[in-house]
Amino acid sequence: MESLNSSPLSKEEISEQLHAVISEFRRQLFGKTPDIFRQKGSCLRLKKTATKIAELLVEATGQQKLPIDLEPIRKRMLVHTVVEDPNLSAFVSELCPDSCGFEIKIAGKERGIRVRAAIAHEIGHTLFYDTTRLPPIRIFPNTLRTPRMDKQEWISWDFARELLLPRKLVCDTPLPNGLPSAEKMVRYAKKWRVSVAFTCHRIIRDLGLWKNSVMFTFSLRENRMDLPTVRVYRGKAFPRFRLLGREGLVTSSEFARLVGKLQELETLDDCFDWQDTLMWVQFSKYSTSPPRVVGVIELPSLGY
Ligand SMILES: [Zn+2]
Repeated sequence: MESLNSSPLSKEEISEQLHAVISEFRRQLFGKTPDIFRQKGSCLRLKKTATKIAELLVEATGQQKLPIDLEPIRKRMLVHTVVEDPNLSAFVSELCPDSCGFEIKIAGKERGIRVRAAIAHEIGHTLFYDTTRLPPIRIFPNTLRTPRMDKQEWISWDFARELLLPRKLVCDTPLPNGLPSAEKMVRYAKKWRVSVAFTCHRIIRDLGLWKNSVMFTFSLRENRMDLPTVRVYRGKAFPRFRLLGREGLVTSSEFARLVGKLQELETLDDCFDWQDTLMWVQFSKYSTSPPRVVGVIELPSLGY
């Protein structure tokens, strides 16, 4: 209880701090040339500042529980409208500056939690604009492609994950304290109105929780794992292994047998466990079209 009441900052003070950190982010950005921006490690401070902004936005809008309401947050960041654009291809969203601030365009096919993630991500992109005058002006040129990914993109995704699943609020739930489980991951993702993959990324990679386990999501195709769809989230203490490689589990006949059993899971959120002397595995189905599954592997020998 104490942690909720001990905040010494008033709403005005939080707003001032927010304003100062946003200016700091833009100052850091102004100080970089496109070449510096591309260099390895050049964005760690920016990333930290961006996640601090997300944390303060949640506080400044008085939110103390999940799921996060994005409405007051987007307004605060000058996003006046969110519209569906049937011309955008699937999974694409766009931030458009205008004389009143910004408009976010979302692909017409997007629904529910995907729209929330897209909005949170686009709010992250507003940080890359100078908003001291309207319409806001982009501080850096539109695309700055690195061999792997545009850094504006990953900073905006880091921002989005802190915004939708703030460290403080997630760590206040029983989830991180309990044992890792695929079933819990599905339950919390639904409750927090984010996708299962988004939650796995946040819990395991960003927050470093459940470090003795590895979680993975995949689509089922004819009762087999559809390999290109596999995403792996490995806890920091879990031994490195190639999930898809020769030493991996996926190619073992035992694992294939377990995946084959998934057809027996008729209802969503149903799950099953399997254990031998070395490991514990749990699967949970969380979507039917296409059939999607999240799994967790734990090695009890690592302890908890
Ligand atoms: Zn983006």
